[in-house]
Amino acid sequence: MNKCQNCQNSFEITKQDKKYYQSFKVPEPTWCPNCRNQRRLSMRNERTFYERTCDCCQKKIIAYYPADAGQVVYCPECWYSDKWTPFDYGRNFDFSREFFPQFKEMYKRVPTLSLDIVNCENSNYVSYCGDDKSCYFDIAGEANENCLYGKFIKFCKDCVDNSFTYNSELCYECVNCHNCYGSTWLDRCSDCDHCHSCFDLKGCSHCINCSNLRNKKYCINNKEVSKDEFNKKIGSGCHHIRLKPIVKSSYQTNSENCTGNDITNSKNCPDCFDVVNCENSKWLWDVLDAKDCYDLNFSLYKPEHSLELISTLNMVESKFCNASHYCHHMEYCDKCNNSHDCFGSIGIMKGEYVILNKKYSESEYSTLKDKIIKHMIRTGEYGQFFPQGTSGFKYHETVASEYYFESGHHHARHHDTRLQDSLPVCQDCKRQFKIISQEKEFYNRLDLPEPKLCPECRHKNRNLRAGERNLYDRKCADCGIKLITPYPKGQIYCDGCYNKKIY
Ligand SMILES: [Zn+2]
Ligand SMILES: [Zn+2]
Ligand SMILES: [Zn+2]
Ligand SMILES: [Zn+2]
Repeated sequence: MNKCQNCQNSFEITKQDKKYYQSFKVPEPTWCPNCRNQRRLSMRNERTFYERTCDCCQKKIIAYYPADAGQVVYCPECWYSDKWTPFDYGRNFDFSREFFPQFKEMYKRVPTLSLDIVNCENSNYVSYCGDDKSCYFDIAGEANENCLYGKFIKFCKDCVDNSFTYNSELCYECVNCHNCYGSTWLDRCSDCDHCHSCFDLKGCSHCINCSNLRNKKYCINNKEVSKDEFNKKIGSGCHHIRLKPIVKSSYQTNSENCTGNDITNSKNCPDCFDVVNCENSKWLWDVLDAKDCYDLNFSLYKPEHSLELISTLNMVESKFCNASHYCHHMEYCDKCNNSHDCFGSIGIMKGEYVILNKKYSESEYSTLKDKIIKHMIRTGEYGQFFPQGTSGFKYHETVASEYYFESGHHHARHHDTRLQDSLPVCQDCKRQFKIISQEKEFYNRLDLPEPKLCPECRHKNRNLRAGERNLYDRKCADCGIKLITPYPKGQIYCDGCYNKKIY
């Protein structure tokens, strides 16, 4: 057992892990998986926005950084333009100093993106999204249309208030769902339509307050009813009271040899949460299509043989990178695109052989990179992700704060505190919130009441429904077999006993 140099808890590095670290050519980690995860997540502010001006075109914009953050911020139009070049901020590596302070100095000077979005149309307050159309407050979305207040929803249409949901339409308050339609308040359901307040259904339609059903129609409280009875119940608006469901130790579909939760079409992936199509990987959170990767968050488009990445697309043979896309052989880079063989660089587009934003020849690059890595091994920096605070975000603004509570740092998010008569007050946090017209139309269309909670409290509640992202050693409530599960209490069942019970 190893002792985490951050939290002092012990953690295991298995034989298999050792092989991977050798293949990545990095020292074994000195921090435990949880502390490493927290450190990566503290690089990402995805939902705290500020109004300010673009430091390039001076237009009014929405940004992750307030005007007084001391960070140079460009709007996407300016940032992706040729009005500036990242090479203007290039510097020599100073071998008398550590790497991370030099990187952080550069981070403050190189213009950063106001919001990390790619190809989004007619969408406001969207963040870490690609190909969104007419969305509002969509976070970590992909190719969504007309979606509001989503978190990590992909290929969805006309959806409001959903988290970790894929390929769904006209859904409201669904969490960890795939291929659902016209449904509300579903957890861990797939291929369902017209279902409401249900848990763990597959291939069902027209169900209310049901759990653990397969290919059923017209059910209330897990009992089949006539169409008329069903329609009467729907009309009464009596939703969101559920039966006590039978809970599986871990929710996995078409997957083998995985632990964690919400795993689809994956194999050999221990300790993973919310992953689809992943293989031979470990410690992935919210990741799609990864192969041979360790320690990834919010990374999609086939990441391959990569280590410690967050907010990336299509990174191959890369390590310790943030918010970079379509690159290979990158280390310690931030916001680089379509580049390869860069080290400690920021904002590089179509670059190669770059160190601290300075260009080198191929052979100079490899000599200098090796020398820096040796230096970083001596300083204990090599193999560590960017330290917390590198991005300049306050901890409470980052995703880390949603999963790892830091004592003494319990801040409220940035809110407008001026009271306006016309706005509702959140029943939980007592702050006023807006219901936008696009949202009102959705509630009318689905005949839903307007929410009593603000978007932030709604988001927090959905995180609670998605459950813990920790694993516990427990036993099946029926056969007593040992299980690894994210559920710390309540009865849980192994696959065999679960299938006996529900079929
Ligand atoms: Zn630790
Ligand atoms: Zn601008
Ligand atoms: Zn609230
Ligand atoms: Zn069992």
